[in-house]
Amino acid sequence: MDSKKTSWNYLIIAVLAMLLIASIISYGIDTNREVKEVVEDQYRERQLLLSKHISLGLEKYLSEKIFLLEIVVNHKVKDSHPSSFDYNSFSSDFETIYEYSDDYYALQFVDVNGTIVIGYPEKNTPIGYNLYDFNQSWAFEHVKESKDTYITGPRELQEGGMGTFVWVPVYVDDQFKGTIVGIIKIYDTTEKFLNDHDIAGDIYLIDSNGNIIYDSIYRDRVGLNYIEIVDDDNFGLRDILEDQLKGLDGTGIYISYLDHETNKYESKIVSYSTVNWGNHKWSLAVKNSYDDVDSLVGSVYEKQADFVVFTGSIILLIGLIVVLILSRWNHELEAEITKKTTALQKSNQELKDANERLTNLDKAKTDFISIVSHELRTPLAAIRTSSELLKDNACPSHIQNEMLELIIRNVDRQTRMVTDLLDVSRLDSDGMRFKKEKISINELIDLSVSEVSLLAKDKDISIDINIDTNKKEIASDKDRLTQVFVNLLTNAIKFTPVKGHIDIQVMSVNDTCIKVNIIDNGIGIPKDKIDTIFEKFYQVDHTSTRKVGGTGLGLSIARGIIEGLGGEIWVESEEKKGSKFTFTIPTS
Ligand code: ADP
Repeated sequence: MDSKKTSWNYLIIAVLAMLLIASIISYGIDTNREVKEVVEDQYRERQLLLSKHISLGLEKYLSEKIFLLEIVVNHKVKDSHPSSFDYNSFSSDFETIYEYSDDYYALQFVDVNGTIVIGYPEKNTPIGYNLYDFNQSWAFEHVKESKDTYITGPRELQEGGMGTFVWVPVYVDDQFKGTIVGIIKIYDTTEKFLNDHDIAGDIYLIDSNGNIIYDSIYRDRVGLNYIEIVDDDNFGLRDILEDQLKGLDGTGIYISYLDHETNKYESKIVSYSTVNWGNHKWSLAVKNSYDDVDSLVGSVYEKQADFVVFTGSIILLIGLIVVLILSRWNHELEAEITKKTTALQKSNQELKDANERLTNLDKAKTDFISIVSHELRTPLAAIRTSSELLKDNACPSHIQNEMLELIIRNVDRQTRMVTDLLDVSRLDSDGMRFKKEKISINELIDLSVSEVSLLAKDKDISIDINIDTNKKEIASDKDRLTQVFVNLLTNAIKFTPVKGHIDIQVMSVNDTCIKVNIIDNGIGIPKDKIDTIFEKFYQVDHTSTRKVGGTGLGLSIARGIIEGLGGEIWVESEEKKGSKFTFTIPTS
């Protein structure tokens, strides 16, 4: 069920990812197209401006050539009289103009009869050539009639190249005296102008009929008609040329075949604008490879890629820093959590231990109550029975004595028990007061042993005393120390089988302290109980079936007294082998 769900999830994610990729690709293609369109439009605009700029420049440059001739004519006419006019005076002007500007092929004067009478340089001037004789008088007649400058179309020159003829009529006081003809080397002039302006792109110039006046690449095409040499199916170029012939400004794209056989071609983008020169309306075109647009688009993308890489790197860097900071926080948080968890586990364990101790204590108290009740009731029962028998006077006198002794023993036993309870309560409330008196070590031990000698005798247990110290006396609380000895010896006797053995060893630790060992070869204490036997009410065997009496207070009182006197108490024991209780006491 789960794996089916997962497969569906994967499928949905895959479909969504594919849709996302498809939409990104289509958006990318769309954007690319739009960018290309925008860049192309911009490029076309820029190229059109460029071609207009060149056209205007060329226009001005060529116009200056006419103005120069017109100024010369006006200057001459102004100072002349019809009768005194002499065309020879143009000779020096022609020479000056020719030498000053190398745009002229020749400068000539045609007299009223249509004959070339003077010219400069002479090598380019057919002196005596009559226009009427060779049917070349049309332009001459035209300027004579119109009294205005006229430019005839480009024509092959003798020395090669194309020349345009600028006809300027010479009238003195309304009397026609002839014309000046300035032949301009239009190809060289155009090229000189373009070279001076260092223009990027190929350039051609056509007249209003489509005749090529200038072509920066194919010089051999000059003089041919562009419409006639263009391939029929090159509709792009045909459209451009049509617009140019109409005298329009604009831009266009066409395919230029570099090699027809291999079908190798290149797209060209053309901008064209008119050149108005006198009575002529020419059209100048600037051609560039369409690759320029692509490389412009490429440079746009390059800039964008730079931007993307830059921002991407910044985002990546910031992301990395954020990740590092977060992971550091995470580590710190984890460490803090681990620390807190460990502390929590520790306090949990402590709580558990405390709880266990409380449970044990509670159990020990319950046990104590039952033990104390038992321990109190037993002597009471014996006392009662003995008392009743004594009251009835039913026993012989030696039995009566025994009964009285029994009563006394049981009363002592109960007194001890109550004393123990009082001692425990005093130790708990810090209310136990210790005396300090000189005690003889020998005496102290003898007294203690005599207190338990009956018990030991009952079980046939021998007690050896070994005192190995040069200290004879100590300053301490005799009664309390006797109580400790008696408690430990009583236990040793209680937990040692019949015919057992007890050793009491006393030795010096240093000048200020003695050490006492009470060693038995009894039942010993299990390892896991060693730490708890000094607790109040604790008994290793606390069952009602246990053979020996006791309340579980003896060791707790012994520890309280020893520590109160400034010493320490501990036990080493092995089950079934015996126990060794040791305590230290300061000597002063
Ligand atoms: P009790 O009145 O039961 O003797 P204690 O506080 O004196 O109380 O001793 C506590 C328990 O320590 C005893 O019940 C016993 O189980 C164990 N114990 C004390 N001394 C010895 C010993 N010498 N050998 C074996 N067990 C001992």
